[in-house]
Amino acid sequence: MKLIFEKGKKGRGCSILPPSDVPEAKLVSSPVRKIPAKLPSLDENEISRHYSALAKRAFGVNDGFYPLGSCTMKYNPKLNEEIAGLSGFRDIHPLQPAHTVQGCLKLLDTCAAYLREITGMDAMNFQPAAGAHGELTGLLLFKAYHRSRSDVARTKIIVPDSAHGTNPASAAMAGFQVVNIPSGKDGCVDLAALKAAVGPDTAGLMLTNPNTVGIFDPNILEITEIVHKAGGLNYYDGANLNAIMGIVRPGDMGFDAVHLNLHKSFSTPHGGGGPGCGAVGCKKLLAPFLPLSGTGLDGGAANQPQSIGRVRAFYGNFLIVVRATAYLLTLGKETVPEIARNAVLNANYLMELINKKYPAAYAGPCMHEFVISLDELKNTKGVSALDFAKALQDRGMHPPTIYFPLIVHEALMVEPTETESRETLDAAAEAFFALFAQAQSAPESFHAAPLSTVIGRPDDVKAARQPVLRFNYTQAS
Ligand SMILES: *Cc1c(COP(=O)(O)O)cnc(C)c1O
Repeated sequence: MKLIFEKGKKGRGCSILPPSDVPEAKLVSSPVRKIPAKLPSLDENEISRHYSALAKRAFGVNDGFYPLGSCTMKYNPKLNEEIAGLSGFRDIHPLQPAHTVQGCLKLLDTCAAYLREITGMDAMNFQPAAGAHGELTGLLLFKAYHRSRSDVARTKIIVPDSAHGTNPASAAMAGFQVVNIPSGKDGCVDLAALKAAVGPDTAGLMLTNPNTVGIFDPNILEITEIVHKAGGLNYYDGANLNAIMGIVRPGDMGFDAVHLNLHKSFSTPHGGGGPGCGAVGCKKLLAPFLPLSGTGLDGGAANQPQSIGRVRAFYGNFLIVVRATAYLLTLGKETVPEIARNAVLNANYLMELINKKYPAAYAGPCMHEFVISLDELKNTKGVSALDFAKALQDRGMHPPTIYFPLIVHEALMVEPTETESRETLDAAAEAFFALFAQAQSAPESFHAAPLSTVIGRPDDVKAARQPVLRFNYTQAS
């Protein structure tokens, strides 16, 4: 498919207004560009077709089942999009006088209260723009806390080897040393390894629970206590809250700080690189260090002398908080736990179905997601997790996450989410079975998959190492 720049032709365009009949105002020289912007000139219908064609090449939750583990690609009610589009929320400016946006400030406060209740935290802040950004913010809170007590030898963050890759990355960015501890055979934290790792240099622990293999760690209270007793703090990676919201709370599990991906669990669609919100919550002891939010509702800048400062401009991505608020208001307190129950039910239902051919990597009921290993299929038939994922695309579904978590060989990580029907889950299981049969009879056919998509197998390594992010104009001419 040609880029829009290649489709442009000099002289084409779609100006609707007649030429200007008033004199042009001269701008001050500095912001005036020296070379005109190289924008493509196209007729309106060509532009429209271009973007429609692009949309057809993508696969989203509106196209079909999207069980991408650790990503929560669930359906987000359209109502919340409409509410976020209301002009009272959309057409405002962060610098306009506070008395003109009291409703919006109230909304931020309302959402913070709901999320504090859901997480069991004492304070909530919406500045971080992504989950990883929330992690960094939370760890900077840890750092500020230890510093405020002159406890400066605490330089290490403990991270289990099953953790999401952003955890060690955030810890390193916050200036900590990362201590990796192995998981036990059950996928949970190895208590002996944790006990051996903690000490006077422990700043904290980062954990996801349910963890990245979809298991709720039964020793969670003991884990957080081990860290607390050693003088460290506990950070909860709450990017995917679907399994627990309304059922158990990180605050009650012994965690001191948490981030939530509002763009996963709270009705903002994600995956296309759009704006996010990694809301950070914390217990009282960390609240004085929270980013300056500027809402004035939590005391504002003047009363936060110990704040770590701003991590993003103004209030963060406000419209995402609007969606989350609308979502929580439409569900109500009674229905929020239904999200968790259905997310867990759907995952266990699908796991039980496909278990007949694809054994789960870890035994026992799962939470909102589960992991299977295709190691045997790879060894006996040469069908890798990648081959399998590509073949699933030909069956009209988005593949699960592959090769994550790193501790499972040929991993497929499946997160059906609570918004899928039983029929969809049954159909997905059928696709898994059909591919199992195909792997027995014609394993080599997998290497050609996918056959039905516009792009088959891009060169992942080249895309990562030599990304072409700019159009080469001279080439086009
Ligand atoms: C998605 C995810 C993150 C990172 O969130 P981003 O918004 O992509 O930065 C962190 N931890 C877990 C467990 C996740 O699933």
